[in-house]
Amino acid sequence: MVDCINGPGPQLKSIACLRKNCILLELNSQESATWIRDTPNRNAFLEKLGGTAMIKDRQYSIVIPFLPITTDLDSPDTLHRMENKNNIQTGLILCIKWIKDPTKHSPTQKVAHALTFITLPDTANHLLRDGFYWGLDRLCPYKDKREPIQCLKCQRTGHLAKDCKQMEDMCGLCTLPHHVQGCTSLTRVFCVNCQNDTHPSNNRQCPDFIRHCNTLHDCTLENRMPYFPTSEEWTQVELPPCPLDSIKRTRPPPNPFATQGQLRQMTLGEAMNVHTHIPK
Ligand SMILES: [Zn+2]
Ligand SMILES: [Zn+2]
Ligand SMILES: [Zn+2]
Repeated sequence: MVDCINGPGPQLKSIACLRKNCILLELNSQESATWIRDTPNRNAFLEKLGGTAMIKDRQYSIVIPFLPITTDLDSPDTLHRMENKNNIQTGLILCIKWIKDPTKHSPTQKVAHALTFITLPDTANHLLRDGFYWGLDRLCPYKDKREPIQCLKCQRTGHLAKDCKQMEDMCGLCTLPHHVQGCTSLTRVFCVNCQNDTHPSNNRQCPDFIRHCNTLHDCTLENRMPYFPTSEEWTQVELPPCPLDSIKRTRPPPNPFATQGQLRQMTLGEAMNVHTHIPK
């Protein structure tokens, strides 16, 4: 396959097999990537591969927080207006979509986070550095990084709900056995991951979540970089690991729905009281 590339110096640096009959090609330089994007070179390359393969360019995804939910993200006109407003060449924003299903937005919600796919790293980097202008607002996008996976059934990190061994849902807010959307425990909060009663299980400041993020950052170099690295030096900065508070375990708060018939711990005094009422 390396022989397929016979342009002015471009070379393959690595090849990795992905799912669905895809392969990921890493070229040796920015110039090589530009070379293969050129239509005649691209066609010649694909022809050498048998003519049935296609090249899908890399997309650079960034998160735009606090976008008004009245924004019509399905309209091509919205994309054009976003490109104009931010001095971006037409067609460089491939698409933008809400991260959370819009039908699940709360009735009082005014803004939501959106994921934007951009074709050039330079464009994505300028938005990350200078902000994303929309309406009268300057929003502060951030890179869509790999994050630890968390099970929506048992709330623990490291696996997905489809692989969960737990039989019942555990609430992400209060850890009682119900789905988080039906949670009515207004005062009870507990994190199953660090066993602490100051935050729910999906809290991004949870020391256990930060510890998993730091482990992921150690093995994924781009996760430590706030920009998409290019030949420009300012895009090559790396962030230090997030500061990590020590994990302080607490007891789970009492279950506000426990009835008298359910088992609960008794004090010694209660136990003696029970003993004295045993019928003779
Ligand atoms: Zn699970
Ligand atoms: Zn709950
Ligand atoms: Zn926690």
